[in-house]
Amino acid sequence: MRHSKMISAMTSSSPPGPVSRALIAHGVLIFFLLAAGGWLVFDFARERDRTVASVSRLAMHKSQLVSALFGDIFIAADYVLRDMADHAELALTRKTALVDLTPLLEKKLTSLPALTDLVLLDGDCRFAAVGSVKSFLGKQSRQRFCSATSHQPGQSLHVQYMPAEKSANGKPVVLISRVIATPQGHLQAAAMAVIELDFAQHWIEAFTVDAPDVMTIVDTEGVLIARNPPMPAELGRRTVAPPGQPPFEQIGSGNATTFTAHSPLDHSERIYGLSRLEHFPFIALVGYDMQHALEGWQQRARQFALGYAALALLSIGLLRAHLRTLAQSRAMHALATTDALTGIANRRHLFERGEHEVARALRYGKPLSILMIDIDLFKAINDRWGHPSGDQVIRNIADLMQGILRAVDTCGRLGGEEFLAILPETAEDGAGSLAERLRQAVEASEEARADNGQAIRHTVSIGVATLAPGDTSFEALLRRADLALYRAKASGRNRVTKS
Ligand code: GH3
Ligand code: MG
Ligand code: MG
Repeated sequence: MRHSKMISAMTSSSPPGPVSRALIAHGVLIFFLLAAGGWLVFDFARERDRTVASVSRLAMHKSQLVSALFGDIFIAADYVLRDMADHAELALTRKTALVDLTPLLEKKLTSLPALTDLVLLDGDCRFAAVGSVKSFLGKQSRQRFCSATSHQPGQSLHVQYMPAEKSANGKPVVLISRVIATPQGHLQAAAMAVIELDFAQHWIEAFTVDAPDVMTIVDTEGVLIARNPPMPAELGRRTVAPPGQPPFEQIGSGNATTFTAHSPLDHSERIYGLSRLEHFPFIALVGYDMQHALEGWQQRARQFALGYAALALLSIGLLRAHLRTLAQSRAMHALATTDALTGIANRRHLFERGEHEVARALRYGKPLSILMIDIDLFKAINDRWGHPSGDQVIRNIADLMQGILRAVDTCGRLGGEEFLAILPETAEDGAGSLAERLRQAVEASEEARADNGQAIRHTVSIGVATLAPGDTSFEALLRRADLALYRAKASGRNRVTKS
């Protein structure tokens, strides 16, 4: 209580001290650390999105490339068909048999590795010439265009995909046909290329695909046609579009898109690019492994997080050490300026304040007074009640002084049972009445108690000295106060005497 009052008296009117400055710095530092941390998190989240977006674009572009390359196989097959159709037309005009073109079909069959068979159909849609599987000769084709009543005059292209369950040999095949019709729309003949999709798996394996990534061809029903890395057991199996994505059959010819999903086959999360072939019911999918794509980002995020944590710990550690040092020096300063028994200023601090106040009063021409207080017949109190009770009396005087003096005043213990009060901006009269109030308060006080509970009545004599024009130092003022005190003692004690 006494202590805190003195500290507050010493600090209340002063600007922010080093401790509060350090606390403000602490707050500012924590604010900046939090702000920097928040910004880092925000920026890393954005960078993750950017990384995913750029990998998505890459996946989509690659899927477009793959679908274009895959489509080229069918386009190449159509070139072969055009040639055959031209030969068939020539045969029709010359009225030669289509079966005579068999050697041509056999030769053309070797020109493209993707071709399984080449066929010529006659005007009744029967197999008139076959390049490879001769057992079909004479049979009726089940192509859709065969059941049509009228056809586009001249040559027209027809594509029919047969999934494994519908195809004659149980393998998924693509049938590309060039139909020849009269100007009246009557079917004359058709050239047909059979492409078994076995080749697609070999074709896709020619690409280099990094281990966790994937390249896939599915048909528009979602049936797996080819995959790199290979998954033979899954080929021909139906997969579904990931949740939130349109079903494969709804993707328009030539369309491309991108999405992230867990693979239904190996359950890895991937960033997918998807592109549907033009004119053919196939979809190329290119998937980049999410974990792999974000590796660099994750590593940077980890490094930044570690760096940030280290920086935060270091700054907070340094600031705490600084605060501790400040608190220690504050405690040491308090120890060095405080009287241990009473908690009020000690002799050293009194002299510091005294010199400071005298200099100030002289500079600004302000009044200044001091009170020198001595307990009357203290030796007798010690002798009668014991030394510890004497100490109680000393503490009581300190308490009373603090209660009566103003915050701007300094009260302290000069030593033994002698006290001093420094009263800035106080003329002799004011100092005298203050001294008188203190004297009366001491005289009336019953605070100090002996071991048996009895109040130890005690009095003080007070010498008042006020800075006079001739005074140039605190010592001079002290000497006059001491003289006044001596006179108070000499004239009977328990009184206030002015110098
Ligand atoms: P006077 O009225 O003339 O001042 O008489 P006095 O008995 O007070 O005389 P003096 O000033 O010479 O006595 C001071 C005594 O105070 C001497 C010493 O034993 C005692 N004293 C000094 N410091 C302490 C202290 O810290 N505690 C206690 N209990 N006594 C102290
Ligand atoms: Mg004395
Ligand atoms: Mg005394």
